[in-house]
Amino acid sequence: MTMYDIIMKKRRGMELSDEEIAFFISGYVSGSIPDYQASALCMAICFQGMSDREIATLTDVMAKSGDMMDLSAFGNLSVDKHSTGGVGDKTSLIVCPIVASLGGKVAKMSGRGLGHTGGTIDKLESVPGLTTSLSDERFLSQAKDIGIVIAGQTKNLAPADKKLYALRDVTATVDSIPLITASIMSKKLAGGAKNLVLDVKTGSGAFMKSYDDALCLARCMVNIGKSCGRNTTAVLTDMDRPLGRAVGNTLEVIEAIEVLQGKRKDDLYEVCITLATEMIILLKNISRSEARTMAEESITDGSAFAKMKEWIAAQGGDIQYIEDTSKFPKASRVIPVISDKDGYISLMNTEAIGSVAVTLGAGRTKIGDEIDYSAGIIIEKKTGDYVKQGDTIAYLYTNYNTESESLTEAYISALCISDTPVAHSKLIYEIIR
Ligand code: URA
Repeated sequence: MTMYDIIMKKRRGMELSDEEIAFFISGYVSGSIPDYQASALCMAICFQGMSDREIATLTDVMAKSGDMMDLSAFGNLSVDKHSTGGVGDKTSLIVCPIVASLGGKVAKMSGRGLGHTGGTIDKLESVPGLTTSLSDERFLSQAKDIGIVIAGQTKNLAPADKKLYALRDVTATVDSIPLITASIMSKKLAGGAKNLVLDVKTGSGAFMKSYDDALCLARCMVNIGKSCGRNTTAVLTDMDRPLGRAVGNTLEVIEAIEVLQGKRKDDLYEVCITLATEMIILLKNISRSEARTMAEESITDGSAFAKMKEWIAAQGGDIQYIEDTSKFPKASRVIPVISDKDGYISLMNTEAIGSVAVTLGAGRTKIGDEIDYSAGIIIEKKTGDYVKQGDTIAYLYTNYNTESESLTEAYISALCISDTPVAHSKLIYEIIR
């Protein structure tokens, strides 16, 4: 078997055997297959696709390329969630405490933000004292004792994905449904949870901008999860506008706290309750309405917020900031974005809004960049809202000295304001089980 023959076979649109896929992954991880051959195969996969069997095999061998977490001690109670990423997506900070307060064991590895999207690890690390670098023993004992732990990817989980993703990122081979499915699902399978809910985003701020592609990706990931013995559900949600009002690390933590305190019932609340409901259905095998009631009651009776505090304290976070969010450091400049005309916000280019947040200091453009936790955006008006000339549509938080006008112009140019009302787009498009 040679890598040359495998590349040629896929280039001609033929199915690869399980042995050929395993040969590729083990050779690439060990270094015997060079980057140029791996990238040629990824490009052939982008053009020719893969069958369900090929995707399942690729996912399985990538998952098994490194350590596999053993969560079997938690029986059917282990549960994980994954979002394909977006702007203002702080759902893990809300959903995980809800589910843990209801008996789930959420043992989760998360990532950092890159490009226009944020990452849960950065948001968590904006809480003074909190660590996301945990030993295996601490990770498992925290999951056992309080039902929730979120750590950075410290273990050697799915190293094939780590290497392949870095290659795909620079060879224009990221947006292939088979490759994304194998990338995400290999990490989730290695993470070990028995139950998995995937939040697949679609729209201008999502990775999968087209609805049909997002649906196809969601179906593909659910099939793989199920075929590997994991109870898997995908929820297709809107990312054609930022989720909630806050974009940026500290600002998003504060917003998550407000949702858990029962102070907000908006789009963010609805997406979180929907995701939590799906996780509870998998854990408890109960009806949708019973699961939803449990999720909502965990907020109204304060148990989800209490669980958040227990969790943050267990990871070394200073709980005083959670109890009194005015203690969080504030950006030195808060710049209002003023509408220059009357009309309805008919479109928010959500990726562009995420990029404005990066410009303010809230994100990084390459791995290892420093980020400013206090930087970000508070959005006052969203798609469908009517604005009058002179209204404040957003506030930009930054510590940089960049000229205000260039920042506000960048934000305004991400919006369309039209004379006619626009229908609110759906928030939850589909649930795939
Ligand atoms: N996120 C991942 O983890 N992998 C991909 O391929 C795309 C998004």
